[in-house]
Amino acid sequence: MAKLRFTFGTMGSGKSTQALQIHHNLRARGLTTLLMTQLDRTEGRVSSRLGVSADAEIVASGSDLFELVRQRVKSLGHLNAVICDEAQFYEPAQCDQLARVVDDLGIDVYAFGLLTTFQGVMFPGSARLMELADNRTEIQVEARCWCGARATHNARFIDGVQVISGATVVIGDTGGPTAGEVSYDLLCRAHWMEGARAARGDQLELLDVDVARPTGRPDRSGPVEVDPDAVPTSLHATRAPSPQPAGDNA
Ligand SMILES: [Zn+2]
Repeated sequence: MAKLRFTFGTMGSGKSTQALQIHHNLRARGLTTLLMTQLDRTEGRVSSRLGVSADAEIVASGSDLFELVRQRVKSLGHLNAVICDEAQFYEPAQCDQLARVVDDLGIDVYAFGLLTTFQGVMFPGSARLMELADNRTEIQVEARCWCGARATHNARFIDGVQVISGATVVIGDTGGPTAGEVSYDLLCRAHWMEGARAARGDQLELLDVDVARPTGRPDRSGPVEVDPDAVPTSLHATRAPSPQPAGDNA
């Protein structure tokens, strides 16, 4: 019986490598697979840090993955498995379409992705996959925080300082005069939260001295709500976080 499998892990945990491994193993057994990916794999390939790569279908925003797979089945005659890399970037509706691929077409789906953003919240696509998947597996890698504890959280740094605001996805650096150097690292939860608290404190201070703040805007005594548009750097935002919370309210 076909299954929807979601495998998640931090950055650098080898998700793409596993996706390529499954792709290779199934093909070696004469099975037909469709490899999909999203976003920064702009050339339509999935590649791993270990130097392996394969051609992949790019998942466009708004595209119907159920239809895409059904068309592929039509043209190939059959399809045994769909393998999805960078699945955190898939839209929740596209994750539902992958579930239909399993249920209505009887095709196995293997999805791989990050669980949480650098802001410490679930990607909408990953949240939906957690809700829908038959199997959920965390990739266990021995990534360590600088303190030695197991690293579980993705952190974004600008010029070496952890940030918690900004677009969910930043590709490259626009090179503007105020653009800082964006980097990522893995931290344990305690140190991720310490950095997040510091970043939040900085923003509270900025708000306190912000005399140009429009009147009538309510003061926030609690934690600062992060506004992705109010990025304190000239990040090149290619995608704002989806305002749609994962899952149905029904
Ligand atoms: Zn730590």
